[in-house]
Amino acid sequence: MFSKILVANRGEIALRVIRAAREMGIQSVAVHSTADSDAMHVRMADESVCIGPPSSTQSYLSIPSIIAACEITGAEAIHPGYGFLSENAGFVQVVEDHGLTFIGPTAEHIRIMGDKITAKETMRKLGVPCVPGSEGGVASLEEAKRLGEEIGYPVIIKATAGGGGKGMKVATSVADMERAFQTARAEGKSNFGNDEVYIEKYLTTPRHIEIQVFGDGKGRAVHLGERDCSLQRRHQKVFEEAPGPAISEEERARIGKTCADAMADINYIGAGTIEFLYENGEFYFIEMNTRLQVEHPVTEGIFGVDLVREQIQVASGMPMSFRQEDLKINGHAIEVRLNAEKLPNFRPSPGRISQYHAPGGLGVRMDSAIYDGYSIPPYYDSLIGKLIVQGRDRPEALARLGRALGELIIDGIDTTVPLFHALLREKDIQTGDYNIHWLEHWLETNLGDG
Ligand code: ADP
Repeated sequence: MFSKILVANRGEIALRVIRAAREMGIQSVAVHSTADSDAMHVRMADESVCIGPPSSTQSYLSIPSIIAACEITGAEAIHPGYGFLSENAGFVQVVEDHGLTFIGPTAEHIRIMGDKITAKETMRKLGVPCVPGSEGGVASLEEAKRLGEEIGYPVIIKATAGGGGKGMKVATSVADMERAFQTARAEGKSNFGNDEVYIEKYLTTPRHIEIQVFGDGKGRAVHLGERDCSLQRRHQKVFEEAPGPAISEEERARIGKTCADAMADINYIGAGTIEFLYENGEFYFIEMNTRLQVEHPVTEGIFGVDLVREQIQVASGMPMSFRQEDLKINGHAIEVRLNAEKLPNFRPSPGRISQYHAPGGLGVRMDSAIYDGYSIPPYYDSLIGKLIVQGRDRPEALARLGRALGELIIDGIDTTVPLFHALLREKDIQTGDYNIHWLEHWLETNLGDG
């Protein structure tokens, strides 16, 4: 086992990793920008190294600075968290070239899944159900129009290098195709340096269901059920739950096994998430994230496992500590994302937190790096915490969420907390009757956000 690891991230996820390391008796090293000198991850780690100015390209994304921080402190492995360098195959290569261990999958797996066309092709061959669409890239507008007719409108044009909801455009008819095709290509080019696009059937009322997988890199892999992350604003998740209210035990076992078998086939190592759209009882693969996800705590809650500990364990060469038959669901968990944003337009609301009180009690977990008097810097994303609750069943989890939100105090800045108070009053949320468009409709109707 490692004796010291470096956490190449900030905020709540850096804390999450530091906590797991401490419980395992592993020393942790935080890295930080000059804007984060007072950040909680710096205070909580055993050591810290300043790696650059506020701009993340010159700090949290600076590969030479992170490698140098490992060399100075003697850290043997790097946990990337999510975002930043977590899905950068080039980074993994550099880490390994320096004799260090990347706590995550191989560069090869990251590369395959980072390119959506290759990912879809790979998954299709592994027997994972995919959204009907083009076979590979679509080079010309004529071909796109021909495929549009063949697949049937509406279709979605997606940049193969896309992510974070960028580089995706829906075409509702052939008249709409030119605009959608050119815009998706242009967004792919300008955001990801790659204008290759492909086409898929656009599903009109799906749910976003993702399967948590975990592999040991030696041909063994398990699944840890699904999360329903359909409540999204601009393709960004805001509320996640497990198990999914619309998924039966049989469906879970079936799609879960398909995913676990696929991961075993490719010798996948560590945590991963296979994302699907789910409509009329069918699953359609959309992409795989080769990292820990923001919403991993809901899965940890219902399965009673520590995914970060497990990631560190398999990265060190130790075996996975659970088999499929050990993994049983217990209760229901919900996570809400607390962003420093002002409603109704979700404008970032950085600034000083004058008062903070975290909720507690049975079944409540608060993953956050804020504290009384902390100033949220304006340079990074607006996620400042995650409130995760668990109950014996969904109604109890919902009641607990309402109770915990009522205890939470974050003064001095605006947050998304009022959104969740309002959502809890909605019948569809209480019954779990929502799809990927539900929240955007609701925001438009109730807040005029659109
Ligand atoms: P990104 O990598 O940008 O997150 P994804 O491929 O994961 O892109 O898709 C993000 C979201 O876009 C999905 O959760 C869903 O809301 C929507 N989406 C993607 N593909 C389709 C599709 N074929 N039909 C309908 N909606 C889609």
